Amino acid sequence: MPTRMKRAAKAAHKALSLYVRTVFIAEYNGKCPLCGVNPIQALFHILRSKTVKILRYDIRNVIASCHKCNWIEYRNPDPSRAWYIRKYGVEQYLQLVDEGANKLDFTLEDYEKIAKNFTNLLAAWKSIQEAPEPVRPALPPDVPRL
Ligand SMILES: [Zn+2]
Repeated sequence: MPTRMKRAAKAAHKALSLYVRTVFIAEYNGKCPLCGVNPIQALFHILRSKTVKILRYDIRNVIASCHKCNWIEYRNPDPSRAWYIRKYGVEQYLQLVDEGANKLDFTLEDYEKIAKNFTNLLAAWKSIQEAPEPVRPALPPDVPRL
């Protein structure tokens, strides 16, 4: 792979990882969803990204976890797959497997687009998180209070 392509692939992965880890940290209070103990530090693919390239940047195919669970997953993927199926349902898992059978080679433009999309998605997600709660309109004075 040419250097420019490698750099773009790395940037795409970095943007995906940052987005997914940020969302998981918010959803699971910073704790690894698999063990519930250690902090979220890593990202892994449910369907291995080396063999299932088409789902490499698909957020349905990634989970943020601690380093320990990531290490365990590499050697024994069954517990994390079971967690995934319990969380997202067997249909989503099977859909990933089916879609993963398709082939796709990413182009330089794809990598650049993916990196940009995840960077934009993260910014949009953060702006929603930081937005103030909608102000609840006060009851008009003439409405009887129960
Ligand atoms: Zn863990």
